[in-house]
Amino acid sequence: MTTDKQQLLRTIPKVDECLAWFAKPPASPAIEAAPLVLIKRAIREVLEQRRNAILTQALKGEDELSHPVLKAAISTRIQELTRPRFQRLINATGVVVHTNMGRSLLPEAALNNLAEVGGHYSNLEFDLNTGKRGSRYSLVEDILCDLTGAEAALVVNNNAAAVLLCLSVLAQGREVIVSRGQLVEIGGSFRIPDVMTRSGARLVEVGATNHTHLKDYETAIGPDTALLLKVHTSNYRLIGFTSEVSLPDLVKLGVRHDLPVMEDLGSGSLMDMGLFGLPAEPTVGEILKGGVDVVTFSGDKLLGGPQAGLILGKKEIIAAIKSDALNRALRIDKFTLAALETVLRLYYDPEQARRQIPTLAMLATPLAVTRRRAVRLKRRLGSQLAGLCRLSYLDTESRVGGGALPERGLPSRALTLEPFIMTLNELETRLRQLPLPVIGRIEHDKYILDLRTVSDKEIPQLADSLLLVFSNN
Ligand SMILES: *Cc1c(COP(=O)(O)O)cnc(C)c1O
Repeated sequence: MTTDKQQLLRTIPKVDECLAWFAKPPASPAIEAAPLVLIKRAIREVLEQRRNAILTQALKGEDELSHPVLKAAISTRIQELTRPRFQRLINATGVVVHTNMGRSLLPEAALNNLAEVGGHYSNLEFDLNTGKRGSRYSLVEDILCDLTGAEAALVVNNNAAAVLLCLSVLAQGREVIVSRGQLVEIGGSFRIPDVMTRSGARLVEVGATNHTHLKDYETAIGPDTALLLKVHTSNYRLIGFTSEVSLPDLVKLGVRHDLPVMEDLGSGSLMDMGLFGLPAEPTVGEILKGGVDVVTFSGDKLLGGPQAGLILGKKEIIAAIKSDALNRALRIDKFTLAALETVLRLYYDPEQARRQIPTLAMLATPLAVTRRRAVRLKRRLGSQLAGLCRLSYLDTESRVGGGALPERGLPSRALTLEPFIMTLNELETRLRQLPLPVIGRIEHDKYILDLRTVSDKEIPQLADSLLLVFSNN
Protein backbone atom coordinates (compact mmCIF):
# COMPACT_ATOMS: atom_id res chain seq x y z
CA MET A 1 0.00 0.00 0.00
CA THR A 2 1.30 3.45 -0.81
CA THR A 3 2.10 5.74 2.09
CA ASP A 4 -0.43 8.15 0.61
CA LYS A 5 -3.22 5.73 1.26
CA GLN A 6 -1.90 4.90 4.71
CA GLN A 7 -1.79 8.55 5.60
CA LEU A 8 -5.34 9.08 4.44
CA LEU A 9 -6.55 6.01 6.32
CA ARG A 10 -5.02 7.40 9.50
CA THR A 11 -7.09 10.57 9.19
CA ILE A 12 -10.34 8.61 9.45
CA PRO A 13 -11.74 9.26 12.94
CA LYS A 14 -12.62 6.50 15.41
CA VAL A 15 -16.26 5.53 15.94
CA ASP A 16 -16.27 6.97 19.48
CA GLU A 17 -14.94 10.25 18.23
CA CYS A 18 -17.80 10.53 15.75
CA LEU A 19 -20.26 9.46 18.41
CA ALA A 20 -19.22 12.46 20.49
CA TRP A 21 -20.31 14.77 17.65
CA PHE A 22 -23.85 13.56 18.10
CA ALA A 23 -23.87 13.36 21.90
CA LYS A 24 -23.66 17.12 22.34
CA PRO A 25 -26.70 19.26 21.75
CA PRO A 26 -27.79 20.89 19.66
CA ALA A 27 -28.23 17.92 17.37
CA SER A 28 -31.34 18.05 15.19
CA PRO A 29 -34.47 16.63 16.87
CA ALA A 30 -34.52 13.71 14.40
CA ILE A 31 -31.02 12.71 15.41
CA GLU A 32 -31.57 13.27 19.13
CA ALA A 33 -34.45 10.82 18.94
CA ALA A 34 -32.46 8.21 17.00
CA PRO A 35 -31.61 4.97 18.84
CA LEU A 36 -27.93 4.68 19.73
CA VAL A 37 -27.65 1.42 17.78
CA LEU A 38 -28.67 3.19 14.58
CA ILE A 39 -26.34 6.13 15.19
CA LYS A 40 -23.44 3.70 15.64
CA ARG A 41 -24.43 1.77 12.55
CA ALA A 42 -24.59 4.96 10.48
CA ILE A 43 -21.13 5.96 11.72
CA ARG A 44 -19.62 2.55 10.94
CA GLU A 45 -21.19 2.49 7.48
CA VAL A 46 -19.95 5.95 6.53
CA LEU A 47 -16.45 5.32 7.88
CA GLU A 48 -16.32 1.97 6.09
CA GLN A 49 -17.43 3.59 2.87
CA ARG A 50 -14.63 6.19 3.17
CA ARG A 51 -12.09 3.47 3.95
CA ASN A 52 -13.09 1.57 0.82
CA ALA A 53 -13.00 4.75 -1.23
CA ILE A 54 -9.42 5.36 -0.14
CA LEU A 55 -8.39 1.78 -0.89
CA THR A 56 -9.97 1.76 -4.33
CA GLN A 57 -8.88 5.34 -5.03
CA ALA A 58 -12.51 6.35 -5.45
CA LEU A 59 -12.27 9.18 -2.93
CA LYS A 60 -13.53 12.33 -4.59
CA GLY A 61 -11.29 14.66 -2.58
CA GLU A 62 -9.68 14.94 0.82
CA ASP A 63 -12.48 17.11 2.15
CA GLU A 64 -14.60 13.94 1.96
CA LEU A 65 -12.72 13.07 5.16
CA SER A 66 -13.17 16.42 6.90
CA HIS A 67 -15.21 16.30 10.05
CA PRO A 68 -18.07 18.55 8.88
CA VAL A 69 -18.50 16.53 5.68
CA LEU A 70 -18.35 13.23 7.58
CA LYS A 71 -20.81 14.51 10.15
CA ALA A 72 -23.22 15.59 7.44
CA ALA A 73 -22.95 12.20 5.71
CA ILE A 74 -23.55 10.38 8.99
CA SER A 75 -26.54 12.62 9.78
CA THR A 76 -28.08 11.85 6.40
CA ARG A 77 -27.55 8.15 6.97
CA ILE A 78 -29.09 8.32 10.47
CA GLN A 79 -32.14 9.97 8.97
CA GLU A 80 -32.40 7.27 6.32
CA LEU A 81 -32.11 4.52 8.92
CA THR A 82 -34.73 6.02 11.23
CA ARG A 83 -37.31 6.77 8.55
CA PRO A 84 -40.05 4.12 8.37
CA ARG A 85 -39.40 1.87 5.39
CA PHE A 86 -42.81 0.53 4.82
CA GLN A 87 -44.62 3.67 3.82
CA ARG A 88 -47.47 4.97 1.76
CA LEU A 89 -46.90 6.31 -1.72
CA ILE A 90 -48.88 7.90 -4.51
CA ASN A 91 -49.65 5.40 -7.26
CA ALA A 92 -49.96 7.40 -10.47
CA THR A 93 -49.31 4.39 -12.71
CA GLY A 94 -52.99 3.87 -13.40
CA VAL A 95 -52.65 0.18 -12.52
CA VAL A 96 -55.51 -0.34 -10.08
CA VAL A 97 -54.62 -3.71 -8.53
CA HIS A 98 -50.87 -3.08 -8.43
CA THR A 99 -49.13 -6.13 -7.00
CA ASN A 100 -45.94 -4.24 -6.09
CA MET A 101 -47.84 -1.40 -4.44
CA GLY A 102 -50.11 -3.24 -2.08
CA ARG A 103 -52.80 -4.42 -4.51
CA SER A 104 -56.01 -3.22 -2.83
CA LEU A 105 -56.67 -0.31 -0.49
CA LEU A 106 -59.03 -0.96 2.37
CA PRO A 107 -62.27 0.96 2.73
CA GLU A 108 -62.46 3.33 5.66
CA ALA A 109 -64.97 1.15 7.48
CA ALA A 110 -62.53 -1.77 7.32
CA LEU A 111 -59.69 0.38 8.66
CA ASN A 112 -61.89 1.42 11.57
CA ASN A 113 -62.79 -2.16 12.38
CA LEU A 114 -59.14 -3.12 12.16
CA ALA A 115 -58.25 -0.51 14.77
CA GLU A 116 -61.20 -1.48 16.97
CA VAL A 117 -60.51 -5.21 16.95
CA GLY A 118 -56.72 -4.97 16.76
CA GLY A 119 -56.41 -2.50 19.62
CA HIS A 120 -58.67 -4.41 22.00
CA TYR A 121 -59.40 -7.95 23.08
CA SER A 122 -61.86 -9.63 20.76
CA ASN A 123 -64.01 -12.72 20.29
CA LEU A 124 -61.59 -14.15 17.73
CA GLU A 125 -62.04 -17.68 19.07
CA PHE A 126 -64.62 -17.14 21.75
CA ASP A 127 -68.30 -17.83 21.18
CA LEU A 128 -70.28 -15.04 22.81
CA ASN A 129 -73.47 -17.12 22.73
CA THR A 130 -72.17 -20.15 24.59
CA GLY A 131 -69.26 -18.60 26.46
CA LYS A 132 -67.11 -21.42 25.14
CA ARG A 133 -64.29 -21.65 22.68
CA GLY A 134 -65.39 -20.52 19.23
CA SER A 135 -63.94 -20.78 15.74
CA ARG A 136 -62.38 -17.90 13.86
CA TYR A 137 -63.59 -19.50 10.65
CA SER A 138 -67.23 -19.01 11.57
CA LEU A 139 -66.82 -15.21 11.61
CA VAL A 140 -67.11 -14.77 7.85
CA GLU A 141 -68.24 -18.16 6.54
CA ASP A 142 -71.98 -17.49 6.43
CA ILE A 143 -71.44 -14.08 4.81
CA LEU A 144 -69.40 -15.69 2.03
CA CYS A 145 -72.11 -18.30 1.57
CA ASP A 146 -74.81 -15.61 1.37
CA LEU A 147 -72.85 -13.69 -1.25
CA THR A 148 -71.98 -16.64 -3.48
CA GLY A 149 -74.43 -19.44 -2.77
CA ALA A 150 -71.52 -21.64 -1.63
CA GLU A 151 -72.34 -24.48 0.79
CA ALA A 152 -69.29 -23.69 2.91
CA ALA A 153 -66.25 -21.43 2.99
CA LEU A 154 -62.87 -21.06 4.59
CA VAL A 155 -60.33 -18.25 4.51
CA VAL A 156 -56.54 -18.65 4.73
CA ASN A 157 -53.49 -16.43 4.46
CA ASN A 158 -53.47 -15.90 0.69
CA ASN A 159 -54.59 -17.59 -2.49
CA ALA A 160 -51.30 -19.43 -2.98
CA ALA A 161 -51.90 -20.99 0.44
CA ALA A 162 -55.49 -21.77 -0.53
CA VAL A 163 -54.39 -23.66 -3.65
CA LEU A 164 -51.63 -25.51 -1.79
CA LEU A 165 -54.02 -26.52 0.97
CA CYS A 166 -56.76 -27.71 -1.39
CA LEU A 167 -54.34 -29.80 -3.45
CA SER A 168 -52.75 -31.26 -0.35
CA VAL A 169 -56.05 -32.24 1.25
CA LEU A 170 -57.79 -33.44 -1.92
CA ALA A 171 -54.95 -35.10 -3.79
CA GLN A 172 -51.84 -35.80 -1.70
CA GLY A 173 -50.08 -38.89 -3.07
CA ARG A 174 -52.53 -39.01 -5.99
CA GLU A 175 -52.95 -37.43 -9.40
CA VAL A 176 -54.37 -34.07 -10.45
CA ILE A 177 -55.23 -33.54 -14.12
CA VAL A 178 -54.51 -30.06 -15.54
CA SER A 179 -54.50 -28.70 -19.08
CA ARG A 180 -51.03 -27.80 -20.41
CA GLY A 181 -52.35 -24.38 -21.39
CA GLN A 182 -53.05 -23.65 -17.70
CA LEU A 183 -49.70 -24.53 -16.14
CA VAL A 184 -48.99 -20.88 -15.55
CA GLU A 185 -46.68 -18.87 -13.41
CA ILE A 186 -48.42 -15.95 -11.72
CA GLY A 187 -46.06 -13.13 -10.64
CA GLY A 188 -44.12 -13.59 -7.44
CA SER A 189 -43.07 -17.16 -8.29
CA PHE A 190 -46.40 -18.87 -7.88
CA ARG A 191 -46.14 -21.71 -10.38
CA ILE A 192 -48.81 -24.34 -10.66
CA PRO A 193 -46.36 -27.25 -11.21
CA ASP A 194 -44.26 -26.19 -8.19
CA VAL A 195 -47.25 -25.73 -5.93
CA MET A 196 -48.44 -29.15 -7.06
CA THR A 197 -45.12 -30.74 -6.09
CA ARG A 198 -45.19 -29.04 -2.70
CA SER A 199 -48.69 -30.28 -2.02
CA GLY A 200 -47.60 -33.87 -2.53
CA ALA A 201 -49.98 -34.32 -5.46
CA ARG A 202 -48.78 -35.58 -8.83
CA LEU A 203 -49.40 -33.39 -11.83
CA VAL A 204 -50.81 -35.05 -14.92
CA GLU A 205 -50.59 -32.65 -17.84
CA VAL A 206 -53.03 -33.08 -20.69
CA GLY A 207 -53.58 -31.53 -24.10
CA ALA A 208 -51.25 -29.21 -25.97
CA THR A 209 -50.26 -25.68 -25.01
CA ASN A 210 -52.91 -24.16 -27.24
CA HIS A 211 -55.56 -26.89 -27.35
CA THR A 212 -57.02 -29.19 -24.75
CA HIS A 213 -60.08 -31.34 -25.44
CA LEU A 214 -62.45 -33.11 -23.11
CA LYS A 215 -61.18 -36.48 -24.34
CA ASP A 216 -57.66 -35.50 -23.22
CA TYR A 217 -58.90 -35.30 -19.65
CA GLU A 218 -61.01 -38.41 -20.03
CA THR A 219 -58.12 -40.53 -21.33
CA ALA A 220 -55.90 -39.40 -18.46
CA ILE A 221 -58.35 -40.46 -15.76
CA GLY A 222 -57.13 -43.56 -13.94
CA PRO A 223 -57.36 -45.29 -10.55
CA ASP A 224 -54.98 -42.73 -9.00
CA THR A 225 -56.84 -39.65 -10.20
CA ALA A 226 -58.02 -37.51 -7.31
CA LEU A 227 -58.97 -34.18 -8.85
CA LEU A 228 -59.65 -32.27 -12.07
CA LEU A 229 -58.14 -28.80 -11.82
CA LYS A 230 -58.81 -25.70 -13.88
CA VAL A 231 -56.58 -22.66 -13.43
CA HIS A 232 -57.44 -19.13 -14.47
CA THR A 233 -54.51 -18.07 -16.64
CA SER A 234 -54.79 -14.57 -15.15
CA ASN A 235 -51.88 -12.50 -16.44
CA TYR A 236 -51.33 -14.70 -19.48
CA ARG A 237 -53.47 -15.14 -22.54
CA LEU A 238 -53.41 -17.51 -25.48
CA ILE A 239 -54.78 -15.99 -28.64
CA GLY A 240 -55.40 -17.39 -32.09
CA PHE A 241 -55.96 -21.11 -32.69
CA THR A 242 -56.73 -22.14 -29.16
CA SER A 243 -59.34 -23.88 -27.06
CA GLU A 244 -59.89 -25.03 -23.49
CA VAL A 245 -62.56 -27.28 -22.04
CA SER A 246 -65.36 -25.25 -20.45
CA LEU A 247 -66.00 -25.60 -16.75
CA PRO A 248 -69.51 -27.09 -17.25
CA ASP A 249 -68.01 -29.82 -19.45
CA LEU A 250 -65.31 -30.51 -16.90
CA VAL A 251 -67.92 -30.69 -14.15
CA LYS A 252 -69.97 -33.20 -16.17
CA LEU A 253 -66.85 -35.30 -16.65
CA GLY A 254 -66.12 -35.11 -12.93
CA VAL A 255 -69.64 -36.25 -12.08
CA ARG A 256 -69.37 -39.16 -14.53
CA HIS A 257 -66.16 -40.38 -12.91
CA ASP A 258 -67.03 -39.37 -9.36
CA LEU A 259 -64.11 -36.93 -9.22
CA PRO A 260 -64.14 -33.47 -7.64
CA VAL A 261 -63.45 -30.45 -9.84
CA MET A 262 -61.58 -27.41 -8.58
CA GLU A 263 -60.98 -24.02 -10.16
CA ASP A 264 -58.29 -21.58 -9.05
CA LEU A 265 -59.89 -18.30 -10.06
CA GLY A 266 -57.05 -16.04 -9.02
CA SER A 267 -59.01 -12.80 -8.93
CA GLY A 268 -62.49 -14.07 -8.34
CA SER A 269 -65.05 -11.32 -8.44
CA LEU A 270 -68.25 -11.09 -6.44
CA MET A 271 -69.63 -8.48 -8.82
CA ASP A 272 -70.34 -8.34 -12.51
CA MET A 273 -67.33 -6.55 -13.97
CA GLY A 274 -69.52 -5.60 -16.93
CA LEU A 275 -70.81 -2.82 -14.66
CA PHE A 276 -67.38 -1.24 -14.94
CA GLY A 277 -67.21 -1.49 -18.71
CA LEU A 278 -64.98 -4.54 -18.37
CA PRO A 279 -65.56 -7.86 -20.11
CA ALA A 280 -68.07 -9.85 -18.12
CA GLU A 281 -66.11 -12.55 -16.30
CA PRO A 282 -68.43 -14.94 -14.47
CA THR A 283 -68.79 -14.08 -10.79
CA VAL A 284 -67.78 -16.54 -8.09
CA GLY A 285 -71.47 -17.22 -7.48
CA GLU A 286 -72.10 -18.04 -11.13
CA ILE A 287 -69.12 -20.36 -11.23
CA LEU A 288 -70.28 -22.23 -8.14
CA LYS A 289 -73.76 -22.56 -9.63
CA GLY A 290 -72.14 -24.50 -12.47
CA GLY A 291 -71.46 -27.32 -10.03
CA VAL A 292 -67.71 -26.94 -9.45
CA ASP A 293 -66.77 -28.54 -6.12
CA VAL A 294 -64.29 -25.99 -4.87
CA VAL A 295 -62.93 -22.60 -5.99
CA THR A 296 -60.09 -20.47 -4.64
CA PHE A 297 -59.34 -16.77 -5.10
CA SER A 298 -57.51 -13.81 -3.57
CA GLY A 299 -58.94 -11.38 -1.05
CA ASP A 300 -56.94 -8.45 -2.36
CA LYS A 301 -57.42 -8.60 -6.11
CA LEU A 302 -60.82 -7.76 -7.61
CA LEU A 303 -62.54 -8.40 -4.28
CA GLY A 304 -60.78 -5.29 -2.98
CA GLY A 305 -60.14 -6.55 0.54
CA PRO A 306 -57.10 -7.58 2.58
CA GLN A 307 -54.58 -10.22 1.51
CA ALA A 308 -56.33 -13.54 1.99
CA GLY A 309 -57.11 -16.78 0.21
CA LEU A 310 -60.78 -17.67 -0.04
CA ILE A 311 -61.84 -21.29 -0.44
CA LEU A 312 -65.50 -21.87 -1.28
CA GLY A 313 -67.33 -25.02 -2.14
CA LYS A 314 -68.99 -28.26 -1.05
CA LYS A 315 -69.50 -28.86 2.64
CA GLU A 316 -67.55 -32.13 2.95
CA ILE A 317 -64.57 -30.71 1.10
CA ILE A 318 -64.40 -27.55 3.18
CA ALA A 319 -64.82 -29.60 6.36
CA ALA A 320 -61.89 -31.83 5.40
CA ILE A 321 -59.74 -28.79 4.64
CA LYS A 322 -60.68 -27.08 7.90
CA SER A 323 -59.54 -30.01 9.99
CA ASP A 324 -56.24 -30.51 8.18
CA ALA A 325 -53.04 -29.69 10.08
CA LEU A 326 -51.76 -27.61 7.17
CA ASN A 327 -54.75 -25.28 7.55
CA ARG A 328 -53.57 -24.42 11.06
CA ALA A 329 -50.24 -23.32 9.62
CA LEU A 330 -51.84 -21.20 6.91
CA ARG A 331 -54.62 -19.75 8.98
CA ILE A 332 -55.89 -16.24 8.61
CA ASP A 333 -54.88 -13.66 11.25
CA LYS A 334 -57.24 -11.47 13.23
CA PHE A 335 -56.43 -8.21 11.43
CA THR A 336 -57.23 -9.76 8.08
CA LEU A 337 -60.46 -11.18 9.43
CA ALA A 338 -61.48 -7.81 10.83
CA ALA A 339 -60.92 -6.10 7.49
CA LEU A 340 -62.37 -8.93 5.45
CA GLU A 341 -65.62 -9.10 7.38
CA THR A 342 -66.24 -5.39 6.83
CA VAL A 343 -65.42 -5.58 3.13
CA LEU A 344 -67.63 -8.62 2.60
CA ARG A 345 -70.56 -6.98 4.40
CA LEU A 346 -70.35 -4.06 1.98
CA TYR A 347 -71.14 -6.51 -0.84
CA TYR A 348 -74.62 -7.14 0.58
CA ASP A 349 -75.45 -3.85 -1.13
CA PRO A 350 -73.60 -3.77 -4.47
CA GLU A 351 -73.98 0.00 -4.76
CA GLN A 352 -72.31 0.45 -1.35
CA ALA A 353 -69.56 -1.92 -2.40
CA ARG A 354 -68.97 0.05 -5.56
CA ARG A 355 -68.78 3.34 -3.73
CA GLN A 356 -66.84 2.32 -0.63
CA ILE A 357 -64.39 -0.35 -1.76
CA PRO A 358 -61.49 1.62 -3.28
CA THR A 359 -60.57 -1.03 -5.87
CA LEU A 360 -64.13 -1.06 -7.22
CA ALA A 361 -64.48 2.71 -6.92
CA MET A 362 -61.29 3.21 -8.95
CA LEU A 363 -62.42 0.77 -11.63
CA ALA A 364 -65.76 2.60 -11.76
CA THR A 365 -64.27 6.11 -11.89
CA PRO A 366 -65.61 7.75 -15.07
CA LEU A 367 -63.25 9.35 -17.57
CA ALA A 368 -64.80 12.74 -16.71
CA VAL A 369 -63.57 12.44 -13.11
CA THR A 370 -60.02 11.64 -14.19
CA ARG A 371 -60.24 14.68 -16.48
CA ARG A 372 -61.30 16.92 -13.62
CA ARG A 373 -58.41 15.64 -11.52
CA ALA A 374 -55.95 16.44 -14.28
CA VAL A 375 -57.31 19.98 -14.52
CA ARG A 376 -57.18 20.42 -10.73
CA LEU A 377 -53.61 19.19 -10.60
CA LYS A 378 -52.49 21.44 -13.42
CA ARG A 379 -54.26 24.41 -11.88
CA ARG A 380 -52.56 23.86 -8.52
CA LEU A 381 -49.19 23.85 -10.21
CA GLY A 382 -50.16 27.06 -11.95
CA SER A 383 -47.20 28.82 -13.46
CA GLN A 384 -44.79 27.59 -10.79
CA LEU A 385 -43.17 25.14 -13.15
CA ALA A 386 -42.88 27.65 -16.01
CA GLY A 387 -39.46 27.33 -17.60
CA LEU A 388 -38.80 24.10 -15.68
CA CYS A 389 -41.20 21.63 -17.21
CA ARG A 390 -43.89 21.37 -19.87
CA LEU A 391 -47.26 20.14 -18.62
CA SER A 392 -49.83 18.61 -20.97
CA TYR A 393 -52.93 16.49 -20.82
CA LEU A 394 -52.96 13.05 -22.34
CA ASP A 395 -55.72 10.54 -22.98
CA THR A 396 -54.40 7.25 -21.75
CA GLU A 397 -55.49 3.80 -20.61
CA SER A 398 -55.41 2.59 -17.03
CA ARG A 399 -54.98 -1.11 -16.31
CA VAL A 400 -56.97 -3.33 -13.99
CA GLY A 401 -53.80 -5.20 -12.96
CA GLY A 402 -53.76 -8.11 -10.55
CA GLY A 403 -55.01 -11.48 -11.65
CA ALA A 404 -57.81 -11.68 -14.19
CA LEU A 405 -58.16 -8.88 -16.77
CA PRO A 406 -54.65 -7.48 -16.18
CA GLU A 407 -54.37 -6.09 -19.69
CA ARG A 408 -57.78 -4.55 -19.83
CA GLY A 409 -57.61 -0.87 -20.55
CA LEU A 410 -59.88 1.70 -18.97
CA PRO A 411 -59.95 5.10 -20.68
CA SER A 412 -58.34 7.65 -18.40
CA ARG A 413 -56.74 11.08 -18.36
CA ALA A 414 -53.15 11.80 -17.44
CA LEU A 415 -51.08 14.89 -16.80
CA THR A 416 -47.71 14.53 -18.48
CA LEU A 417 -44.42 16.14 -17.57
CA GLU A 418 -41.56 16.96 -19.92
CA PRO A 419 -38.82 18.44 -17.75
CA PHE A 420 -36.40 21.00 -19.23
CA ILE A 421 -33.86 20.91 -16.42
CA MET A 422 -33.41 17.18 -15.86
CA THR A 423 -33.84 13.95 -17.77
CA LEU A 424 -36.96 11.83 -17.52
CA ASN A 425 -35.01 9.22 -15.62
CA GLU A 426 -33.81 11.81 -13.12
CA LEU A 427 -37.36 12.99 -12.67
CA GLU A 428 -38.51 9.42 -12.13
CA THR A 429 -35.79 8.81 -9.51
CA ARG A 430 -36.43 12.05 -7.64
CA LEU A 431 -40.18 11.48 -7.50
CA ARG A 432 -39.57 7.97 -6.24
CA GLN A 433 -37.27 9.21 -3.46
CA LEU A 434 -39.51 11.93 -2.04
CA PRO A 435 -40.72 11.63 1.56
CA LEU A 436 -44.09 10.86 -0.03
CA PRO A 437 -42.93 8.95 -3.12
CA VAL A 438 -44.76 9.40 -6.40
CA ILE A 439 -44.74 6.58 -8.93
CA GLY A 440 -45.84 7.25 -12.49
CA ARG A 441 -44.61 5.81 -15.76
CA ILE A 442 -42.40 6.92 -18.62
CA GLU A 443 -43.93 6.51 -22.06
CA HIS A 444 -43.31 8.23 -25.41
CA ASP A 445 -40.64 10.50 -23.87
CA LYS A 446 -43.03 11.82 -21.26
CA TYR A 447 -43.50 11.23 -17.58
CA ILE A 448 -47.12 10.19 -17.22
CA LEU A 449 -49.30 10.66 -14.14
CA ASP A 450 -52.48 8.63 -14.67
CA LEU A 451 -55.08 10.12 -12.37
CA ARG A 452 -57.41 7.12 -12.09
CA THR A 453 -55.38 5.74 -9.19
CA VAL A 454 -54.80 9.12 -7.51
CA SER A 455 -57.66 10.06 -5.20
CA ASP A 456 -59.15 13.56 -5.08
CA LYS A 457 -57.62 13.97 -1.62
CA GLU A 458 -54.18 13.16 -2.98
CA ILE A 459 -54.20 15.84 -5.70
CA PRO A 460 -52.83 18.63 -3.44
CA GLN A 461 -50.19 16.25 -2.06
CA LEU A 462 -49.21 15.20 -5.56
CA ALA A 463 -48.90 18.86 -6.59
CA ASP A 464 -46.70 19.60 -3.56
CA SER A 465 -44.50 16.62 -4.40
CA LEU A 466 -44.03 17.79 -7.97
CA LEU A 467 -43.15 21.31 -6.82
CA LEU A 468 -40.67 19.92 -4.31
CA VAL A 469 -38.84 17.97 -6.99
CA PHE A 470 -38.40 21.04 -9.14
CA SER A 471 -37.65 23.47 -6.29
CA ASN A 472 -34.68 21.42 -5.06
CA ASN A 473 -32.83 22.13 -8.19
C1 LIG B 1 -52.85 -14.23 -8.03
C2 LIG B 1 -53.09 -15.65 -8.25
C3 LIG B 1 -52.66 -16.61 -7.33
C4 LIG B 1 -51.91 -16.24 -6.09
O1 LIG B 1 -52.74 -15.52 -5.21
P1 LIG B 1 -52.11 -14.74 -3.95
O2 LIG B 1 -53.29 -14.18 -3.25
O3 LIG B 1 -51.20 -13.71 -4.53
O4 LIG B 1 -51.37 -15.73 -3.12
C5 LIG B 1 -52.92 -17.93 -7.59
N1 LIG B 1 -53.56 -18.31 -8.71
C6 LIG B 1 -53.99 -17.42 -9.63
C7 LIG B 1 -54.70 -17.91 -10.86
C8 LIG B 1 -53.77 -16.06 -9.44
O5 LIG B 1 -54.19 -15.17 -10.35
